[in-house]
Amino acid sequence: MLLTLTTTHRPATDLGHLLVKHPDRVQSFDLPAGVAHVFYPEADEARCTAALLVEVDPLKLGAGRGRRQATAPEGFTLGQYVNDRPYAASSLLSSALAKVFRSALRGESRDRAELATTAIPLTVRVPVLRCRGGAELAVRVFAPLGWTVTATPIPLDEAYPEWGDSRYVDLTLTGTLRLADALNHLYVLLPVLDDAKHYWVAPDEVDKLLRAGSGWLAGHPERGLITRRYLAHRRALAGAALARLAELRLADEPTADDSIDPEQPVETPRAPLAAQRREAVLAALRDSGASRVVDLGCGGGALLTSLVADRRFTEVVGVDVSDRALGLAARRLRLDRLPERQRDRIHLRQSALTYRDDRLRGYDAAVLMEVVEHLDPPRLPALEDAVFGHARPGTVVVTTPNVEYNVRYEGLAPGRFRHADHRFEWTRAEFAAWVGRVAAAHGYTATITGVGDADPELGTPTQMAVLTRDDRKEETNR
Ligand code: SAH
Repeated sequence: MLLTLTTTHRPATDLGHLLVKHPDRVQSFDLPAGVAHVFYPEADEARCTAALLVEVDPLKLGAGRGRRQATAPEGFTLGQYVNDRPYAASSLLSSALAKVFRSALRGESRDRAELATTAIPLTVRVPVLRCRGGAELAVRVFAPLGWTVTATPIPLDEAYPEWGDSRYVDLTLTGTLRLADALNHLYVLLPVLDDAKHYWVAPDEVDKLLRAGSGWLAGHPERGLITRRYLAHRRALAGAALARLAELRLADEPTADDSIDPEQPVETPRAPLAAQRREAVLAALRDSGASRVVDLGCGGGALLTSLVADRRFTEVVGVDVSDRALGLAARRLRLDRLPERQRDRIHLRQSALTYRDDRLRGYDAAVLMEVVEHLDPPRLPALEDAVFGHARPGTVVVTTPNVEYNVRYEGLAPGRFRHADHRFEWTRAEFAAWVGRVAAAHGYTATITGVGDADPELGTPTQMAVLTRDDRKEETNR
């Protein structure tokens, strides 16, 4: 089975650096089920093609399979030795890709770090790909990722066109993408199209899928089919993966609720609610005496910018589950242009707040600004555990909408939330009850305030709570 990868980026031979495989040599790698060879049919300034050829040993493939899933899609005895596996691209090619181009798949490159993060013109060709669901399915899975797809069905026998097409296609993808993205697309989607995984699908495949699918799978219109097939139709695993993807996807949707602001009297122009909220959070952080701060669910990084501008904050970390949000934050912070000393103060980390993450432990303060209402209520206890139980910052500042105030928003239909992605919005009593419960359960003491113009009956548009870890109260209650 064969896959070729061509670029016309100049100098095209940089492809060798990105793949960490020298264009002048043929290199071979042992695989559990055969041997992979990498070589370059062409390599000059203008155009360079790397080929990955996998020779499958059907005996090796058949051996040691035990109770594992059948190798051949057909379930007959000789099927494990006489089948298409040696010739047609499948999950074997994808495992070879992962093994042979490991650092390129991760987007790492020692010699061409910048190029590794740059979209370059690429053409991928897989001359024989088993495609369950036909050529049209190849278009459905690759086109939304920015590829121009040509999938030509291969006739069963060229001498007898009346026999019709085989279930194989000749696939060509062209596009301008980061090499790592291209490789991750192939890594996931080749076995998905083949739909006959050659190995036992263990639970850690969910993590592998989410890692490889980072930044593109959650929003993919065919994510359901991709996930089910990738996980070899194991229902429980696919369910778990889809739930995590749903979290990622929600996180990717546009956020700020500032488009809807209460009608302000013209004569007293006020800062928009979002700016007031940022100022209130900053004030609470300054009061807490924190120097190392983490903004959980930082979104596009508006608060991070203010934090970085204040030198008392010696370390500022932005955390979000969304790739896109982190990309925006990096741009807004101009991370690539900051002097090194400044840059060392700022870190962006991708993490889901509903999972414990050791990297988030030990901070003085954490912010959850307009984040909790983006979680499905059943996921909230997981966030409580990860933030208050595991990360345990000295201070936590939480803000969330006050749903009672919504009647003041013109154009917001009764019963609607301020943002399409909000899973709930709390009354003051509901927020107070949640804050009280979390504080008691995790050893914090809370103060509740509000942000924005207070309505005598409805309260403020934004609710805010500052929770202080009980063993820190002595230091901060000055
Ligand atoms: N704090 C920012 C963004 C609020 S929007 C601000 O106030 O402007 C909510 C943010 O939470 C989004 O960026 C979303 O990606 C993030 N988010 C939602 N669920 C998350 C989760 N489970 N883990 C991490 N981040 C999450």
